[in-house]
Formats: sequence, structure tokens, C-alpha cells
Amino acid sequence: MSDPSRAIADLPLTASLPWLTALQSALEDSIVRDRLAHAVLIQVSPGRGGDWLARWLAARLYCSSSTSPRPCGECLACRRVVSGEQPDLLCLRPIEESKEIRIDQVRELTTQLALTSHAGGRKVVIITPADKLNRAAANALLKTLEEPTRGSLLLLVTGEPSRLPATVQSRCMRLVAPRPTRSALVAWLRTQSGGNTDWNAVLEVLGDEPLLALGAQGGTLEALRHETHRALEAAARGGLDPVETAELWGKEAYAERLACIEAWLLSRLREWASGKAGIAPRAWFEALDEAREARQWADTPINKPLVLERLLWRLGSLESAQRKRSQPASGVNRGP
Ligand SMILES: [Zn+2]
Repeated sequence: MSDPSRAIADLPLTASLPWLTALQSALEDSIVRDRLAHAVLIQVSPGRGGDWLARWLAARLYCSSSTSPRPCGECLACRRVVSGEQPDLLCLRPIEESKEIRIDQVRELTTQLALTSHAGGRKVVIITPADKLNRAAANALLKTLEEPTRGSLLLLVTGEPSRLPATVQSRCMRLVAPRPTRSALVAWLRTQSGGNTDWNAVLEVLGDEPLLALGAQGGTLEALRHETHRALEAAARGGLDPVETAELWGKEAYAERLACIEAWLLSRLREWASGKAGIAPRAWFEALDEAREARQWADTPINKPLVLERLLWRLGSLESAQRKRSQPASGVNRGP
């Protein structure tokens, strides 16, 4: 449904991502003072520009332009960074089927780092998303972090640094970006793309990941959000078949559906907080927890229709539980 790597690759090195400019200045400062660590943990998810920033930094180190201190985006070195043809720039990504970065990839990287660089300069490694390093791979990488190859620079990109072993985190210089507001991201997306996409709706489905949004088909996501929210309204009234719907939603756009469910629950809870909706908040918060937990496991080979079915049954019981609460006590407790 979306291709974040395409959108990231298409974003020029000279682009401006306002929420990353402070980090770029800090990196500039480190380079000028020759204080750049041999390993940097970029705490920005790929979809929010973490990969782009890593490429920008690599290009900053390779760029041959003498007119600007920042990567020009036009010289051969910059163009090679963007196209992935820079021979001294290595990239570790999860293997397609396993969705993990594995130990043999890290071993191969160690071998590559031991070789002389092509241009006699620095070797830069981008590991993204670094939280996909499995345990064995992270342990193998630790050795490289402890005994870095001379002249090498490792850039670990992740929006979820807590998923990395503390030993790996502690050996990296950390770069943390301030969290941009939704409205700031919507404003930026409008400058990047014409048309009348409802970027707020797209970000609601994808999370606040603007580069993911740029690579996605906005109209399709808007329609998906609209359809899911309508189905959830029906579910809450008891007018939806959870089994049939779960079977359908489990087959396609599973993670996006879960995001829609979470956003819908949140919007109802916001209405309750502002006094616009009279709901029994505890049950809704519990449903929200369940939706969030399901999202965390969305990438794993779980039984997706079963997870959705459980969630939809729970949503179906929310308003009926509320109706019971508002009726006079019958003396019979039918609660789950
Ligand atoms: Zn350049």
C-alpha cells in the first residue's frame, strides 16, 4: 500500500525537513570540530526522515562540491549516495522474508569494513531500521562498535531505540529529534505534494510518518479510513458480523485497519474527555490497549483474523455495556 523507501530515495538531499534541521546543525558542528563519533544512533524512524538524514550525513562526508558546506545533491558523489552506488557506503536492511537483520549480514559487513575503502576515504554504514537487528546480529555488531575499524562511521536509524540492547545503545552517540506536531507535518506534506489529499487522514492511518505518507496512495488510505470508521460505528451498535469482517480485514491492509481502529477509539475518548460523548471510559481504554497491542504484533505471523475478531467482539460490546449501565439495575450481572 505504500513504499517508504521510494519516497525517501526521491526526496532530494537539499530538501528541508523542519523537524530535523537542529540535528543537521549538530552534525555539521561535530564534523567541523572533528568530534563525530564512530557510531551514531539516529532516533528518528525511517518514515519520519531517519534514513534521509543518514543519507544526508553520508553525502555531507562524500560531497565534492566546494561551494557549499552542505551536500550539494548534484555532484557525482552525492548522486551516487542517492542511487546507492557509492562503493564506500554500505546499507544493512532486514531480509525480505524474515523481516530481520541477521548475523550473517553483520558478518559480511565486518568483512567489508576490513577491506580498504575504494576512494581512500571514510566507509559509512547505514543500518535501518536498527531495531530489526535480531539478538545474534546485535551481539555480533557489538564487537564492531567496541573495536571500530579506523575511518568507519556506523549510522543506526530507528524510531524505537528501546528495542535495541542497552549495550548497543550505550556505544553510540545519540541524536534525538523533537516530535513534530501533526499540523506541522500536514503543512510540510502540502508543500511536497499538490492535489487535495487529506493528509491528516493519511497520517492518522500511517502514524505521524510523513515520508511514509508521501510514498503511500493517499486517496486509497482516505477511503480505507472512511470505510473502517463506518464499519466500527456499525460494530459499536451491534450491527456488524465480527467473524466475516475479521476474515476480510485480516487478508489485506491489516496494519492499516488496526491503525484506523486505534484512531477511532482515540477520537471517541477525546469526545468523552471534552464532555461531548457519554461513554464508559474504562471499557474504551481497555479496547484501546488491545488495539495498540495488536498493532505491536502486526508484523509477526499471528492469526490476524482471530485478533481482529476478538477486537471487533469487544467493540460490539462497548455500547451495549453502556446501555446497560444507563438502564435501572436489573439485579443480573451479564458483564463479561
Ligand atoms: Zn555534492
